[in-house]
Amino acid sequence: MTQESSPLTRRAFLASAIAAAVSACGADGFPEPQGLASTPTAVPQPETAAAPTSSPSPTPSPTTEPSPTPEPTATPEPTPTPEPVDLDTDPFVLGVASGDPTQDAVILWTRLATLPGGGPINDQTYEITWQVAVDDTFAQVVASGTVSATPATAHAVHVDATGLDPDSWYHYRFVLGQHVSPVGRTRTTPAAGTSPQRLRIGASSCQHWERGYYGAHRHLADEDLDLMIWLGDYIYEGPYRGTDDVIRVRQHPDRRAETLETYRERYAVYRSDPQLQRSHAARPWLVTWDDHEVVNNYAGDNSGSTSFFARRAAAYQAWYEHMPVRLAPPEGPDLTIHRDVIWGDLAHLFALDGRQYRDPQATDGAPSQIPGLDDPGLGIRGLGPTALDPDHRMLGADQEDWLVNGVDASPATWTVLCQQVLMQGLTAIPGDSPLIITDNWDGYFANRRELLGRLARVGADDLVVLTGDFHAAIAGDLRADPFDRSTPVVGTEFMAGPISSGFPAWRQELQSIVQLINPHMRLFEARNGYGIAEFTPEACRMTFRAVDDALDPDTAVSTIAEFMVDQGTPGIRSA
Ligand code: FE
Ligand code: CA
Repeated sequence: MTQESSPLTRRAFLASAIAAAVSACGADGFPEPQGLASTPTAVPQPETAAAPTSSPSPTPSPTTEPSPTPEPTATPEPTPTPEPVDLDTDPFVLGVASGDPTQDAVILWTRLATLPGGGPINDQTYEITWQVAVDDTFAQVVASGTVSATPATAHAVHVDATGLDPDSWYHYRFVLGQHVSPVGRTRTTPAAGTSPQRLRIGASSCQHWERGYYGAHRHLADEDLDLMIWLGDYIYEGPYRGTDDVIRVRQHPDRRAETLETYRERYAVYRSDPQLQRSHAARPWLVTWDDHEVVNNYAGDNSGSTSFFARRAAAYQAWYEHMPVRLAPPEGPDLTIHRDVIWGDLAHLFALDGRQYRDPQATDGAPSQIPGLDDPGLGIRGLGPTALDPDHRMLGADQEDWLVNGVDASPATWTVLCQQVLMQGLTAIPGDSPLIITDNWDGYFANRRELLGRLARVGADDLVVLTGDFHAAIAGDLRADPFDRSTPVVGTEFMAGPISSGFPAWRQELQSIVQLINPHMRLFEARNGYGIAEFTPEACRMTFRAVDDALDPDTAVSTIAEFMVDQGTPGIRSA
């Protein structure tokens, strides 16, 4: 762009660039469309689902490889020779997953279904055998048992496989009659009190199934990672509506998920993707959610509508059924999901819930007057009394206390927050009364200042925040007041690119202008992909990986940027 322009044309350019910035959240930034067809269309055809039987063999790391001659911790059990079951076809077409590792346990997940589109296979209960082994041939089974798959949970199961060794890799699988599931690979965390030399995690979010293929997951599966962090928008409740020039590359049943049946269907369609299955099978995940697991931009109880509570209950139940999480099942519309994963003394990861308890987005800031950015549904406003009220909260007071107390008690070097929406500032018009997006932390302006202050006071010097939602690769410094550069840097935020969700075509203008207006940002690129954060006692290295084309299932991936955060020095430096 030329720097020489009249205020008017510069303003117009700003407007278009900021419009791009806002629509960069794809479907996220827009109100729900009305009157969509509710007629189901074709059930998606299975892709040639290469079952994720091949365990990835990443470059071994001394601290993460299983011990060379592992001693089984339990009596090895022979491969079961179970009674055949009355299922003629493979009931494991949705794959396997694991998650929420501790130093001696991990959650194992599968769901019985005979069609990739899912749906209960029938109304029977099945007893599934599960096995954890040191090796991928299951010659050395170290833990096993049975679990009931019932229609009440859509035949999804969660097994807490306990009694495992710390800091160890394992293989796992499920067996039902004559059917054997794909083999997954998982691991435990290093023991408390130990000083691991490395934690290497993947991070991403936003995988609209209709907007693109999961080439990013194919590459993620092959990365050398200890843990995958999912930052929200695992599903989208609605069809893809094309906020960019991409028309749907594949179609799921063309109805809006609103009931338990339709949310379950959505998860099953997504989980039918072989690359997503590989990505789950490659390592444990730590999963949180954002808005589209229920509905776009929802906040808390959406002002108490009873029909919304019923919808939220259905959405949370389906999410619970399909995620590899160590959680009590939802109670009606309530499901507590904030939790942590501890990596010895190296890192303490906190998965946050910025949706269930949040106060409704502020509506009392001055509305945007910028043409094209004045649709109230975009939530672009000046800072008003609500955003500046410290009691207008994103996480809710209880979750904030849990987080601050957890950081206070933690001996870990790195504090890692895994959360939904942009925490650093993003303004369309800088200055004393910045225009902000009310769904982001900017809309909870005073709450953010207080929370970051509390975290700093309990010693979160090495604060790294991993974020989803905005459909871009973003790196930036965190300040308690993001638009006041005289306030100190208190942490760093990295947003990995979205797996497949979209953005407008004019992202080149967007990229140049956003960083000009928001100089704390070191990267803003609207690209599909993921991030890799590697933590050592000395530093965090964030690598942004982008796929060439999410519309191509065989797309290549490349590194587009790398940044470092040094232990003891908040904020980004160049890698
Ligand atoms: Fe999204
Ligand atoms: Ca979102």
